[in-house]
Amino acid sequence: MLYYSLNKNAPVVDFKTATIAGQAPDKGLYFPQSIPQVNKKLLNDIENYSNAAIAYEVIKPFVGDVIPDDLLKKIVEETVNFDIPLVQVTRNIYSLELFHGPTLAFKDIGARFMSRCLGYFAKEKTEKIVVLVATSGDTGGAVANGFYDVAGIEVVILYPSEKVSSVQEKQLTTLGKNIHAIEVNGSFDDCQKMVKETFMDENLKQQVFLTSANSINVARWLPQQFYYYFLWRQWQDKNIPPTVAVPSGNFGNICAGLLAQKAGLPIKHFIAACNANDTVPEYFNTGIYRPTKAIATISNAMDVGDPSNFVRILKMFDNKNNDLKNSLSSVSITDEATAETLLKVFKQTNYLLDPHGAVAYTALQLYLTNNPTEKGVILETAHPVKFYDVIEPIINEQVTIPAAIAAQLKLEKKSFKMEAVGGKWREWVVGMG
Ligand SMILES: *Cc1c(COP(=O)(O)O)cnc(C)c1O
Repeated sequence: MLYYSLNKNAPVVDFKTATIAGQAPDKGLYFPQSIPQVNKKLLNDIENYSNAAIAYEVIKPFVGDVIPDDLLKKIVEETVNFDIPLVQVTRNIYSLELFHGPTLAFKDIGARFMSRCLGYFAKEKTEKIVVLVATSGDTGGAVANGFYDVAGIEVVILYPSEKVSSVQEKQLTTLGKNIHAIEVNGSFDDCQKMVKETFMDENLKQQVFLTSANSINVARWLPQQFYYYFLWRQWQDKNIPPTVAVPSGNFGNICAGLLAQKAGLPIKHFIAACNANDTVPEYFNTGIYRPTKAIATISNAMDVGDPSNFVRILKMFDNKNNDLKNSLSSVSITDEATAETLLKVFKQTNYLLDPHGAVAYTALQLYLTNNPTEKGVILETAHPVKFYDVIEPIINEQVTIPAAIAAQLKLEKKSFKMEAVGGKWREWVVGMG
């Protein structure tokens, strides 16, 4: 498989080059030259495949020959070696729990896959690879955990000060070794901008070998297709394919789902559930894409005003608006409605949503009201305990904190504070090389 830049001003590259580079030299996002159709046998016989076997089948055409088969099999096994259960919540609403990995969020899957691929590619390099990543909350922990102690790689995580939850902050600031946390006095978009500007600094790039672990990296984006197949494997009523509501921020997760659908996976419809950051819902309303400054909400991992992956979605539908609208709709949910859903679902079903899952749940309920014969799934993207500080006042009850998290909360935070503009960021990055 070859990848081209969506800005169309850079050479096509293989999976290895796309992974190491993160972004194309013309600043565009990499996109596969074709979308390989999924093996019909896999779809028809999916109950007889293990999760690792599904993952291998799905990713193999995208990776091609740049990773030996036995190693690729090992990488996908390690990537999905935890439960991803489909749990029924009500008669027509299910939850696909993506939070049983080491940092309790779906980002573990992309981060684990990418870190292992990059670790393999780094072996052939003599210089250090510096991975830069901006996080709105959960990416940081997942990337830190995935890359911890991987030889030849330094990881620099930028996060917005006081805009991530306490569990999230501890997950990315307490590991040490090759993991470095930068606490930025600003928003997630500021962090993302700092990373983007660093990649445009040709002079700096001569001094340090840089790559990004944000969801724009194909090695993080593509493995997110896996669990849409795991959902299908567990889906009972194969005659009525599910509608899937995805809590969306940077739109990497839902973009992977749409890719799987294009490859032939039966998904009826996708709902991009957003919080007050409504750039994409507004695009669907008005036809105008107008990036804004991010607004802080209780579903903080989705506080993104200019979602990077949306250009990939537009590309997938080649600006065919009707096809796009058949596959995807998008809605903005307020914090008040999110909190109300969280409380109501907990009281009525005893199922505790996290705030991101609650945004999706609210959006799915709206959709099912208008489409009562359908069945829907929310992607539950994080364990509620990650957001106990938000949830406890809503349900007026304490959330039980697992022992591993309680221990982590006691560890000492180590971060470097930095201003979003005019700080010592550049010098800092050079020092990493
Ligand atoms: C990152 C994140 C999201 C948003 O995912 P995108 O791929 O950026 O759209 C949603 N929920 C949680 C818990 C997250 O960590």
